Amino acid sequence: MYESTRGNSSGRAGKSVIALGMVPGGGLFVPFRVPDLPWSGLRGLDYSALAKKVISLYLPDMGEEVLGRAVEVYRQGAFAGVNPAPLLRPDGFGILELWHGPTAAFKDMALQVLPHLLRAAMKELEPGAEVLILTATSGDTGKAALEGFKDVPGTRIVVFYPSGGVSAVQERQMTTAGGQNTYVAAVEGNFDRCQSGVKEIFASTALAERLRAEKIFFSSANSINWGRLLPQIVYYYWAYLQAVEQGHVGAGALMNVAVPTGNFGNILAGYYAKRMGLPLGRLICASNKNKVLSDFFETGVYQSRRPFFLTMSPSMDILVSSNFERFLYEMSGRQAQSIRQWYDSLAQTGSFQVDAATLARSRSQIFAGWADEPEVRNQIQRTYREHGYVLDPHTAVAARVYEDYRLKTGDPTFTVILSTASPFKFATSVLNSIEGKEGSGNEWQDLELLQQESGWEIPAGLRGLEARAERKVWHCSPKEMSAVLLKELAL
Ligand SMILES: *Cc1c(COP(=O)(O)O)cnc(C)c1O
Repeated sequence: MYESTRGNSSGRAGKSVIALGMVPGGGLFVPFRVPDLPWSGLRGLDYSALAKKVISLYLPDMGEEVLGRAVEVYRQGAFAGVNPAPLLRPDGFGILELWHGPTAAFKDMALQVLPHLLRAAMKELEPGAEVLILTATSGDTGKAALEGFKDVPGTRIVVFYPSGGVSAVQERQMTTAGGQNTYVAAVEGNFDRCQSGVKEIFASTALAERLRAEKIFFSSANSINWGRLLPQIVYYYWAYLQAVEQGHVGAGALMNVAVPTGNFGNILAGYYAKRMGLPLGRLICASNKNKVLSDFFETGVYQSRRPFFLTMSPSMDILVSSNFERFLYEMSGRQAQSIRQWYDSLAQTGSFQVDAATLARSRSQIFAGWADEPEVRNQIQRTYREHGYVLDPHTAVAARVYEDYRLKTGDPTFTVILSTASPFKFATSVLNSIEGKEGSGNEWQDLELLQQESGWEIPAGLRGLEARAERKVWHCSPKEMSAVLLKELAL
């Protein structure tokens, strides 16, 4: 059973939580109780079987058969024939590559599964209904969600991305997406504007009622949907099992993880894995120049009204980290009242301050740091020069923050950096960071140049993108999002 972080919903079962995506009226669903799952009994499972174990603990009401089919994607779908999340050790740290799915970013790990879960949930709860998925994207979620949901019966999906706020490759990935049920909108404004626009549409009960009359229901493919976080818990276990098998960590010894963070979804899955009994030590939360989270851990104040920077790691250019609400709910001792106060204050004044106990608990779980753009470039350059390994700019943020952590604390614990995107998604930035190299200024040529330089292969999903026909894209301001939606979908 699940409850709302804001105390306005309780006792919902997993299926309904996934179908809804977000608590009607505001708030996020969290499980009442975090189940235990000892890692040692999981040795020898393949990724798919591991995923089934983890997911079924949280969604027992889904049934074995549905879950079994959903996790087949790791065996037979887009990840066929490869380890969906290999652990490498190119440097003094481990790297968990999470970008072997169809869109070359870690969002695939969850978004290849979520449509199966959502469809099964809807089929039982609202037979014959249609789900309208609304998604705000800082670049990678959009394409991964379009890929996951395209032509899934009973669903339509609309992706809103910040115009000018995503890389050329990310944009082209979305504008060339296939599917009869997929729509893409470019919004003037940054990701936070897109995300709050989507949240406003969800929160409008009048709109929901109107659509309900036509048997259309909103849901979300963003990590505000618990169904997005759940499949992400799996790869923390997978990382640990590989680390033990490869001899980097003694059986049962602690392992740290460093996570490039935007919406706090990836690292929150790590927090839940730890609560489930996985021997994780420090969770290292890495931000880019939009360092709202690392400032929070320093001061206890979450301040979203601040200059916004477009960086080389656009998927982390976020000032309102949705899932942080779930984390604070846990850190406050599940005080829905406090969460409501803080998030009302965030909505009204752009900031809030937590009490000392909540801050102390938060710090005991997370080490937070950030990296500036020159530091990120330097990290990419050094890791390539010394180890021949190409980091994407998001992963490089985490590698850099980890190195700071190591210097500051001297903690020798084996640490895994979660690698969230293929460097080819950001080929120009990566080339410009490698010593003595320069991008051509043409993102498509730079894919080839990076291939020549590194000897790595361009991921299949990124090949020939520039030649593909583009679809019709909606254009709107944040205020017009709901109107454009209704008009274009003739609702
Ligand atoms: C989405 C994304 C992130 C941030 O993940 P969150 O779950 O939002 O914290 C980091 N790197 C890449 C490449 C991403 O696509």
